[in-house]
Amino acid sequence: MNVKGAAMMNAARAYSLDDVRVEEVPLPRLEPGDILVQVVVCGVCSSDAMDWYVSRKVPVVLGHEPVGIVHQVTPEVEGIEVGDRVFFHHHVPCMECRLCQRGQYTSCRRFRETSLDPGGFAEFVRVSAQIVRLDVLKLPNQISDESAAFIEPLACSLRAFGKLDVVSGSSVWVIGAGPMGLMNVRLARYFGAKPIIVSDPIEVRRDFAEEVGADLALDPGQPDFDERMAEATDGWGAEKIIVMPGAVEPIEHGLTHAAPGAIVLVYTPTPPEATVAYRPHDLYFKEVTITHSYSAGPVDTREALDLLAGGEFEVEDLITHRFGLDGVGEALRLAKTHDESLRAMIYPHGIGVEVKAI
Ligand SMILES: [Zn+2]
Ligand SMILES: [Zn+2]
Repeated sequence: MNVKGAAMMNAARAYSLDDVRVEEVPLPRLEPGDILVQVVVCGVCSSDAMDWYVSRKVPVVLGHEPVGIVHQVTPEVEGIEVGDRVFFHHHVPCMECRLCQRGQYTSCRRFRETSLDPGGFAEFVRVSAQIVRLDVLKLPNQISDESAAFIEPLACSLRAFGKLDVVSGSSVWVIGAGPMGLMNVRLARYFGAKPIIVSDPIEVRRDFAEEVGADLALDPGQPDFDERMAEATDGWGAEKIIVMPGAVEPIEHGLTHAAPGAIVLVYTPTPPEATVAYRPHDLYFKEVTITHSYSAGPVDTREALDLLAGGEFEVEDLITHRFGLDGVGEALRLAKTHDESLRAMIYPHGIGVEVKAI
C-alpha cells in the first residue's frame, strides 16, 4: 500500500520461496534510540531458503547478514553517527537474565523478540534501540563490505567451535560442504585441527573442500566410507563432528562414526517434526555428546569482526553470485541446494551502485 506523502523504499518480499516480489514499501519509522541504516550488501544464508522456516513467516523480507551505512540516528543514540559503516546484528539478548549470565545468549527470551525491520533484503533497515546498544559494530577501513557480510555467519561458527572445543590436533569431521561447511573447514584449519575430514555427496563440493584445506573428502555413500574414516582417524572415529545440513540422515551418520568422547554438533535446525534414531547403548559406552548451536551473541560477533579484520581469514572467495533485489528469488533458489553456487550477495541498491551517506 502506498501511503501518500510517506518516504518509500524498495524491499524484496517473499510470499513463498518461489514467489519473491520487489515492492515499494514505506521507509521504517524510527523510535527513540533507533537508527536507520542504508543496506550496502546482505549475504544470503541457506536458512533463508528453508521451506518450513520461511512458510511460518511469509510474507516476509528475509536477509540477516547485512552491512550498511548509517543514514539516520535518533537523538538518544550515542557513539554511532550518520555515515558510519556498520555491521548490525538481527537479534540481541538482554544480557541480564539467568540464561545470559550463563552465556546462553541465543536462548534468552529477548533474543527472539528483537529483529530487523523489515530485513536485510531492503534498501533501508530500522535497527532497534536494543540492537543499537548491544550489537552494531563500526567497521574498520581494512575490512571490505563483502567480508563484513560474513561477520554474522562466522560468529555462528565461532560459537559452534567453542561448544565443540576444537583445539590443535583435534580430528574434525564436517558433514556437508556448502558455503558454511567450507568456512568451517577453514576455521578447523585455523584452530590447528588434524585431520579435517569432509563428507558430501556432491563431487564439486568435495573438490572445494580439499581446496580450502580438508585432508580427506568422502562421499557418504561410497562403499569404503567406514574404512576410510577409520584409516584417517587411526581407528578412533572423529572427535569433533559438525553436522551442517538441517536433516536427519547426516545427524545419524555423524553419531555412527563418533569416536569415544566425541562431540556431535547440530549446526542447522531440522524441520520441527523430524526425529533422530540413535542407540543410547552405543553412545553411552562411548560417552558421546550431542549438542546444538543456535545463532550467535554479541561476544561472538566481535570475535568474528576481529578475525576478519585481521586479514588472515579468507571468506570472499566463497562468494559465487551477486544480485540486486530483483535477484533475491534466484539467490534463494540457489541457496536451497548449493549444488551450483556457494554464497550469494544481495545489493539492494543495485550492483556497482555506490552507497553513500546523504
Ligand atoms: Zn544465517
Ligand atoms: Zn537474557
